[in-house]
Amino acid sequence: MTLDFLLYALIVLVTVVAMEGFAWGAHKYVMHGRSGWGWHKSHHEETEGLFEKNDLYAVVFSVFAVALFFVGHYLSPILLAIGWGITIYGLLYFVAHDGLVHQRWPFHYVPHRGYAKRLVQAHRLHHAVEGRDHCVSFGFLYAPPIDKLKAELRRSGVLDRERIERSVVAQGAAHAPVRD
Ligand SMILES: [Zn+2]
Ligand SMILES: [Zn+2]
Repeated sequence: MTLDFLLYALIVLVTVVAMEGFAWGAHKYVMHGRSGWGWHKSHHEETEGLFEKNDLYAVVFSVFAVALFFVGHYLSPILLAIGWGITIYGLLYFVAHDGLVHQRWPFHYVPHRGYAKRLVQAHRLHHAVEGRDHCVSFGFLYAPPIDKLKAELRRSGVLDRERIERSVVAQGAAHAPVRD
């Protein structure tokens, strides 16, 4: 293994971690902001068909990664490594968010323990609130402790205790908030 390889592997790793931070910020301030909600709204309601408008965000990220591969191929292996980092993050995002939480794959698997369970429950709580305001847990790979999120929701007063508990254990694709 050469030093170069280790350096590029490190860049890939750092990019994956940085992407979670970037995605958290984009989700909280752009997608739930005034300008980005137009696309993201579709992800917070039940939609017909295989795709939702929100998938356009993934397309934008993919185009960006492909451009990095293209430019990196000619100019710099560092850009190539960043392109790989974004691509790997995209795959992890697909497995954790689209797969595990929203079950957009042909099999149903609900994790019952460990971090995977926390990840699913945290994102269910993200979808528990109606509309773009007062939502919690904006990360896709990092999930804060469930008790902390429940407390945050109670504090903001948008959901009562019973609705919060029902949201955590709700089944199915979990896009729209649970209703009475
Ligand atoms: Zn959201
Ligand atoms: Zn979601």
